Amino acid sequence: MYDIDKIRGDFPILARQINGYPLCYLDNGASAQKPQVVIDAITRGYGEDYANVHRGLHTLSNISTENYEAVRGIIARFLGAKDEREIVLHSGTTEGINMIAYSWAMAHMQAGDEIVLSVMEHHANIVPWHFLRERLGVKLVWVEPEADGSLAPETVLNAITNKTRLVAITQCSNVLGTIVDVKSICTGARKLGVPVLVDGSQGAVHMPVNVQDIGCDFYVITGHKLYGPSGSGASFIRRERMDEMVPFMGGGDMIRDVCRDAVTYADPPMKFEAGTPGIVQTIGLGAALEYLMDLGMENVAAHEADLAKYASERFSGLNWVQVQGNAPGKAAIFSLTLDGAGHAHDLSTILDKKGIAVRAGHHCAQPLMQHLGVQATARASFGLYNTRAEVDTLIEGLELCHRLLG
Ligand code: PLP
Repeated sequence: MYDIDKIRGDFPILARQINGYPLCYLDNGASAQKPQVVIDAITRGYGEDYANVHRGLHTLSNISTENYEAVRGIIARFLGAKDEREIVLHSGTTEGINMIAYSWAMAHMQAGDEIVLSVMEHHANIVPWHFLRERLGVKLVWVEPEADGSLAPETVLNAITNKTRLVAITQCSNVLGTIVDVKSICTGARKLGVPVLVDGSQGAVHMPVNVQDIGCDFYVITGHKLYGPSGSGASFIRRERMDEMVPFMGGGDMIRDVCRDAVTYADPPMKFEAGTPGIVQTIGLGAALEYLMDLGMENVAAHEADLAKYASERFSGLNWVQVQGNAPGKAAIFSLTLDGAGHAHDLSTILDKKGIAVRAGHHCAQPLMQHLGVQATARASFGLYNTRAEVDTLIEGLELCHRLLG
């Protein structure tokens, strides 16, 4: 049973008041709050077990290395990878996609090659591909969602040509909440011999993920949205792709031998993990993923589906609110604009006065904003600890905005 009161009790910050009101935290799409088990893992990581990893023989270094390396296995389990050596640890999705762009794509693409991506992508899954456009002359081929925000797999597959070298696609839009059927895209792309990178930053937060079932080549996650620390993250990289990759950053930990006129590299995944990593952040991510697996991602998904349904019903009763994106089965992410209301920032500021945290702006998705023809939205994004009562609180807050700004 999904015991929401107990779950909320696991997150100490939820007991806080903001401007004299109970915190109503609806900014999970930007970053989620941390359960006590994660805070404890961080405290233990620094307070009891801290030393650098991999390079020491003393007790603390061994403990720290063991705790850090154990997370690779936890991530493999969370993502359904068959081998923990397919998991590269890094600081978050931005670093992960940049690593793949430099280590794999740069080495495998040339002028005229094409990358298919959707206009719903976060800048983290756009700008690294612009680097290839600028530096190699690679062409970016954009696909657009339907009017309701849904994106059919065929739309993506139809954009593939004999020049396509990669499809880079989000599993869940951080603005519209659209869930993309990445499995069908991977199945179709594989038949055409095209690798697929899935940005799982939002997807892995809202639903169970199994990278073997999806059939993707790359799947990237960021720890802070998964109720873990910022500065943590990981990429699943299919073994064949890893074997095709050159190192990303050079330095300690990623080498076998270095001499004056030669260098040899460690085996993957270490080959892609130069320098001292986010040791305690990664250990905290391990605690967060174990917490999520204990709750059961299918239970989290069911709880959030109920919130999404309830929130959609409540929004449909307000004819002065526009919700961007209404794709069937969308995640509980609602980007809002109000008739007559000045800027989305005004909404966010007024809601904050009532203790309600939402994000206003372009959400690092400017091509999508251009596609929608809006400058900015106020985004309410729900997480595993939110409640129907908080949907009601949001609606009351929006009614106040409507009165003040409308
Ligand atoms: N991709 C998506 C879909 C996101 O929502 C985000 C963060 O908002 C990112 C990528 C970037 O994640 P990070 O800033 O943690 O690297």
